[in-house]
Amino acid sequence: MDIDSLEETICAIATPVGEGGIGIIRVSGSEASAIARRIFQPRHAAFPLESHRLYYGSIRDPAADQVVDEVLLSFMAAPRTYTREDVVEVNCHSGYAVLNRILQLVLQAGARLAGPGEFTRRAFLNGRIDLSQAEAVIDLIRSQSEQGLLLANRMLQGDFSRRTESWCDSILGLQAELEAAIDFCEDLEDEPSDSLALLTRLQEEVLGPLAEVLNHYEEGRILREGLTIVLVGRPNVGKSSLLNALLRKDRAIVTPFPGTTRDVIEDSFLLSGILVRVLDTAGIRRKADGIESLGIERTFQSVEEADVVLWLIDGSQPLTEEDDAVFAGIAAKSHVMLLNKADLPAKVSAKDLREHFGSNAPILGLSVLIPDRIQGLRDFLTETFLRNPLEMGHSMIVPNLRHKECLERALEALLRARDLLRTGAYGELATIELVAARRQLQSILGQVRDDDVLDRVFAQFCIGK
Ligand code: GDP
Repeated sequence: MDIDSLEETICAIATPVGEGGIGIIRVSGSEASAIARRIFQPRHAAFPLESHRLYYGSIRDPAADQVVDEVLLSFMAAPRTYTREDVVEVNCHSGYAVLNRILQLVLQAGARLAGPGEFTRRAFLNGRIDLSQAEAVIDLIRSQSEQGLLLANRMLQGDFSRRTESWCDSILGLQAELEAAIDFCEDLEDEPSDSLALLTRLQEEVLGPLAEVLNHYEEGRILREGLTIVLVGRPNVGKSSLLNALLRKDRAIVTPFPGTTRDVIEDSFLLSGILVRVLDTAGIRRKADGIESLGIERTFQSVEEADVVLWLIDGSQPLTEEDDAVFAGIAAKSHVMLLNKADLPAKVSAKDLREHFGSNAPILGLSVLIPDRIQGLRDFLTETFLRNPLEMGHSMIVPNLRHKECLERALEALLRARDLLRTGAYGELATIELVAARRQLQSILGQVRDDDVLDRVFAQFCIGK
């Protein structure tokens, strides 16, 4: 099967298979309407199959002469469709047997089963969307927060693509000018003013904006994927209680961590429309033979993953060597010290913490029993870690890691071009670097065909999308 051959008509169940109100089977390709005619019997005799209309009737198994389900069938003629091909969608009842039976009939009538993301892949191959917009479709489906959704929608509407295209155009303009200057005077050294003007344009139109956008990658990542925080501390300092207190409001999803990392619990909640993933570690225990090594290892694996470490210390008990062991593992990471159990008589003060650990990380007094203190922690997290992402504005955002890597390679080529232009003597070489930079930007949009990249992008989709 050649996934990029557009000859065949493809089909798939487009809704989750299970019991539900409505299930949809989607068919795309030149045979779509012929297939519909083979298996669909309209309620009313006249069945002109006009585009963008919905028809009421039933799906019939022609071989058994049997009604399979009562359905609504829509036909959308190319090119005003998701794939830019003829598309038929059957809205039937949702149930495992119904959906599968109809799918079988569509297959028997001449379609083949679509691969993951193949409908969106066709939308890309047929030029309806570019590659970064196809990636936005996955982001949209996966987004778990308001901000993630907003971002995916902006990308789907082509915001990032347009900006990337405008950088491509600028580079092309610079390249043309450079080539003209080379033809005219052979050597840019003869015309330093030309070279200077080119350098200024290179800086203002592409180098500057590109570097600026890359600088904000982290904030964009947090808007898109969320902020990951990890709770650490010795046993009984209040980690689980804090997790529960944070989750009580705006709980997003429940995803218990599987398998090997049994001791780490993962959950998430929403803060100012941004997803916050919380990893609650088992805690580092002291055993007869010293500090438990497995707990340490797992805790520190989670610490690696996190953007922020919330380190809980029980303020109602003296510090122990378990606290020292925790600190040793997180000292290098961005952390906040939470002096918990502030409702009890204090045995440890903020000053003690400063003196004992020598860390200048923020210290917050906390009690998981006092709602105001929990709210104080939420406000602190928003202000400290989410304010920049929220204020940055979506135009500065690099959508994903693939785009970031392409932008970085483009930037490197542009910097080399700039250095060559500065010397004035290597106009041709600078042109080669400009071409390389533009190629990187084009690969963001999928204009440079790379099947491995396409396969990787579309492998993330589900079948039917
Ligand atoms: P973990 O082992 O770090 O997850 O700690 P837990 O959340 O299981 O809490 C251990 C014990 O401390 C429980 O009995 C909690 O009710 C109690 N605890 C947790 N936080 C506070 C607090 O802020 N104040 C008081 N008084 N008790 C707390």
